[in-house]
Amino acid sequence: MLYGIISDIHSNLEALDVVLNKLYQAGKIVCLGDIVGYGPNPNECIEKIKELNIPTVAGNHDAAVTGQMDVKWFNQNAREAVFWTQKEISEENLGYLKELPEVLEEDDFQMVHGSLRSPLEEYVTSLTEALPTFGLMTRPVCFIGHSHVPLFIARKKDGNYDGRALLDGEEVLVDDYEKVIINVGGVGQPRDGDPRASFGTYDSKTRIFTLHRVEYNVEQVQGKMKKVGLPQPLIDRLQFGR
Ligand code: ZN
Repeated sequence: MLYGIISDIHSNLEALDVVLNKLYQAGKIVCLGDIVGYGPNPNECIEKIKELNIPTVAGNHDAAVTGQMDVKWFNQNAREAVFWTQKEISEENLGYLKELPEVLEEDDFQMVHGSLRSPLEEYVTSLTEALPTFGLMTRPVCFIGHSHVPLFIARKKDGNYDGRALLDGEEVLVDDYEKVIINVGGVGQPRDGDPRASFGTYDSKTRIFTLHRVEYNVEQVQGKMKKVGLPQPLIDRLQFGR
């Protein structure tokens, strides 16, 4: 089965639409959380995920909007976007976010927003941070989001470790490793200096993961954000991918 792996949509409908179009060949699409936060279209993004029956785990922004997580952990701009989203979101969509699980399994992989040790909070960007998740993995692959920076960290069969940032078109051959953690980057707010939407595909037959980047209409999203009064730094960062 060819899986589409998406994460950190952050209410960015333009980016989500372009990514979903690119995934027309996927047999199944899964989402690693943070459907909302930062961007101008929370309801539309949730409705698209629901309509396509995309299995989704909870992200920290989803939990902040429902009140399940305290916004004191958020910076000022992120907090303002959470408050704005709370005013915008429909009762029904809020109910959907509240029910999202923290961890899901599918085929030979697990999915979580942050880490298996701390699903909503922990960032896994280094080997040290990856070790507890390796210890908790019950399947050979774990897909994560949260940092919006695509990368993989892997344990080899000889006990050594491997890992690096992933650029557009780069692959990870899962069979080369004992266990692999892969961050697919962010659909709606990339942070690795490349403003293009980031997502992954995973072929469970060949066991090859591929990272993809795709351009979307950044100006259109920025225009919507300005119109509804979302914080200017959140508007600016989309064009830099930072
Ligand atoms: Zn996020």
